[in-house]
Amino acid sequence: MFHDKYVDIIVSNIYEYYFMNNNQLLGWLQLIREVICAYIIFNKISDLFTAIYGYGPIGYIKKLYKSIASFFFPIIMSLPPIKSKIDKELNETIVKIEQELMKNDDNLLQFPQLPKSGLSSSDIEIELDKLKELKHNDWYNGRVSGAVYHGGDDLLKLQSDAYFKYSVANQLHPDVFPGVRKMEAEVVSMVLKIFNGTEGSCGSTTSGGTESLLLAGLSAREFGKKFKGINKPEVIAPITIHAGIEKACFYFGMKLHLVELDPKTFQVDIKKVRRLINKNTVLLCGSAPNYPHGVIDDIEELSKLAVRYKIPLHVDACLGSFIVSFLEKSKVHGDKQIPKFDFRLPGVTSISCDTHKYGFAPKGSSIIMYRNKILRQCQYYISSDWTGGMYGSPTLAGSRPGALMVGCWATLINFGEEGYKKSCFEIVSVSMKFKKCIKENEFLSKYLEIIGDPIGSVISFKIKDKYNYILGIYDLSDLLSKKGWHFATLQNPPALHFAFTRLTVPVINELIDDLIICTKESLEIEHENKNEKKKQGDTAALYGIAGSVHTAGIADQLIAAFLDTLYKV
Ligand SMILES: *Cc1c(COP(=O)(O)O)cnc(C)c1O
Repeated sequence: MFHDKYVDIIVSNIYEYYFMNNNQLLGWLQLIREVICAYIIFNKISDLFTAIYGYGPIGYIKKLYKSIASFFFPIIMSLPPIKSKIDKELNETIVKIEQELMKNDDNLLQFPQLPKSGLSSSDIEIELDKLKELKHNDWYNGRVSGAVYHGGDDLLKLQSDAYFKYSVANQLHPDVFPGVRKMEAEVVSMVLKIFNGTEGSCGSTTSGGTESLLLAGLSAREFGKKFKGINKPEVIAPITIHAGIEKACFYFGMKLHLVELDPKTFQVDIKKVRRLINKNTVLLCGSAPNYPHGVIDDIEELSKLAVRYKIPLHVDACLGSFIVSFLEKSKVHGDKQIPKFDFRLPGVTSISCDTHKYGFAPKGSSIIMYRNKILRQCQYYISSDWTGGMYGSPTLAGSRPGALMVGCWATLINFGEEGYKKSCFEIVSVSMKFKKCIKENEFLSKYLEIIGDPIGSVISFKIKDKYNYILGIYDLSDLLSKKGWHFATLQNPPALHFAFTRLTVPVINELIDDLIICTKESLEIEHENKNEKKKQGDTAALYGIAGSVHTAGIADQLIAAFLDTLYKV
């Protein structure tokens, strides 16, 4: 009764306000306008509360500060006096980048345009050999982290033969190349079995991990749109997720929430993931393992969230590839329980695996797998009324290099299960030796600290917090470079990692010795410089620029300049 009375009063007030003094049409228009306004304001406020709830008040303020800073600093830095100073320094750095990257040689022929008449094959062979000899990081002797996943010289020969036989093949035309179709189907099936694919699971081959991640994102977006009506899609992933997921969100217009790590385990903080889930979430992500730290997220817990909230979960095993999937079978960790990360977990709906990493296939080869065909169909592009005929393509590319896929197929059946078990055992034995050494060597364990508890092929470490002031990790990296070792540099926190490959297995002792030597040397340099103003090494200077809010935007310009340099002749 009471209630009705108030409703009546409100209704009659509205009526009076909008319709008594106006003509009817104007009144309606005014009412509609205000309802729409109220709706928009309500949505904005509800978004705000969702964000504050998701990130927590402090996390939200940090995020806000960052976005305000990244809006204003570029404006401030475009002011003429500041800009000219920055441009000058930028140009100096760009010159350095060019010197570093554009290795050339007076002995080399130059081709800024097509030669008038073609060169003979034998002349080209000579040129190719000369180009191979340009000064570069020594990957062949195992001095480079990751980068080259070499399966042995015999395998290389096999892959080249496969390429030779199929170099004209195109997966776009299964009628012309039926053998290639069969091989691709078998590659997908073999990799699905390795990741314990279940009844109905499926996948496709792609050009690399990034394409696999793009497709996982696209499929999740389309799935959300089709089956849940989500048109403001959001993705939740750890800050350690590969940049390919950021790229997917950028390309396909999705909002990405990056979640902090649990400070103890360096795995994604599950509670924070849960708080960020909302009605627009189309995909959760985790890595097995991640690129920066080689740490496997707690996929079992992520899977539980995925099941509870009925949201797809992607596991990025691009890097884990044929290492993480063979940890159990190879028994490299003895009988120790290996946490689950694959289709055995009910919440996992897609997995990406790079066959061109620890599968040792030729570069340009990865697999995206799905729990069911509906998810795979969500990545397809179909155009039934195209003037060029009925068209459909399963992945991002149209034409696809069949030869690379054939190389992958030949590699998988050449290695076989035994081969991958063995390579996993050898590589992980060595990475564990490295980890143990940093943890237990009296000198190293004093200054360095392993990040998280990596059980695969990638080990990352940082300077212990209390020694941060006397030792710089980037300076250590520069010293190691001088000895020919190329570690990957990481940020937030500053750290280094080494991805062990078959090539690095034989040089593990040298690597450890040199790490000890360089750390000692680094300490001595710091000691000598104690009273002088310290001169930063190149790497430290670069990350100094990237890490500071005040220089936000400059790091981006440097990266763009680096990319431009790739195409300079
Ligand atoms: C290498 C890698 C990828 C994919 O990178 P591509 O260079 O496109 O092959 C994705 N995720 C992780 C963790 C990786 O290490």
